[in-house]
Amino acid sequence: MIPFNVPPFTGKELAYVKQAVDNHKICGDGPFTKKCHAWIKDRFGAPGALLTTSGTTALEMATILSGLQKGDEVILPSFTFSSTATAVVLTGATPVFSDIRPDTMNLDESRIEDAITDKTKAIMAVHYAGVACDMDPILDIAARHGLKVIEDAAQGVMSTYKGRALGTIGDFGCFSFHETKNYSMGEGGALLIKDPENIEKAEILREKGTNRSVFLRGQVDKYTWVDYGSSYLPSDMNAAYLWAQLEMADQINENRLATWNYYHESFKDLAKEGRLVLPTIPENCVHNAHMYYVKLKDLEERTAFISYLKSRGILSVFHYVPLHSAPAGLRFGRFHGEDRYTTSESNRLARLPLYYNMDRKDTDAVIEAVHDFFRQ
Ligand SMILES: *Cc1c(COP(=O)(O)O)cnc(C)c1O
Repeated sequence: MIPFNVPPFTGKELAYVKQAVDNHKICGDGPFTKKCHAWIKDRFGAPGALLTTSGTTALEMATILSGLQKGDEVILPSFTFSSTATAVVLTGATPVFSDIRPDTMNLDESRIEDAITDKTKAIMAVHYAGVACDMDPILDIAARHGLKVIEDAAQGVMSTYKGRALGTIGDFGCFSFHETKNYSMGEGGALLIKDPENIEKAEILREKGTNRSVFLRGQVDKYTWVDYGSSYLPSDMNAAYLWAQLEMADQINENRLATWNYYHESFKDLAKEGRLVLPTIPENCVHNAHMYYVKLKDLEERTAFISYLKSRGILSVFHYVPLHSAPAGLRFGRFHGEDRYTTSESNRLARLPLYYNMDRKDTDAVIEAVHDFFRQ
């Protein structure tokens, strides 16, 4: 069987985890966490960066720090992972789903303004497949209506929009380091913070409502409970695991891009014949090869495609069931405007195996099976 995903592994992870254990520093904010923070800030030009226990908890920190409250509304796509919406719902705010563009599967920036009411407080831009939303119009709408912008860049680590790193463009950016993402620590994530004023607030929220971070920097002589908070910091063992991958971020990125580009070239014939629709990368976007997907004619053809690949020993998967049609989506949110693309395009989409160090002969086997599907 060719798996759909293999978690990235570079070879240095165990040595670094052992070092964390030998340091007797396995709680949060130890030496490896500090290395990861410094790397993220430096590499992406983020004023603030904090590792979190998941992409989901990074999103929760972002919605809390955005000041969302019961009765507020947040605009987001329905074509996303449940975490984007649960982070809104946990604050008591209402997710308002807006339609996507069929080319990138990202929020259609031209539909957003119509969904704004006097209760709207934020826009969540999900960079699907590590390909950026069109952020300039989104920032412009947000500025004109006084809204916060939260980037769900769970899939977008190392991608850029007009030269700016995803996660650093809005008020808050959320990375995921789950094992299915490009860089991993098992479960983990990071919150990127633009406004320096929010950095200390984020540190307090992440450290059980205490000012322990300023205490550790020697800026106050004792630490105390100062605000609401929770515990969002991961163990330094997990950060050690991640560090091995951040050190090799460029190699991992290039390796994934090589597989992505190889798929893309190999399916151009099928796209030309109108059998498949391939992903679009807008001109001002540099992506990170988080995923390779193709679009079939409809749900029926996609079902046949996935089961044909399975018969050839290849695991291909679909996602997402649009959130507005899920039981919790019906309960907590609403779809604004017409669902022109969200449901129909998500029904057509199938993801192909793609992971760090994918064997060329496995990639060839996938490419051959996809061609054979259309020959049968
Ligand atoms: C993976 C993912 C998340 C959640 O990240 P976790 O680290 O698994 O909590 C959120 N949003 C999107 C778009 C994702 O792909």
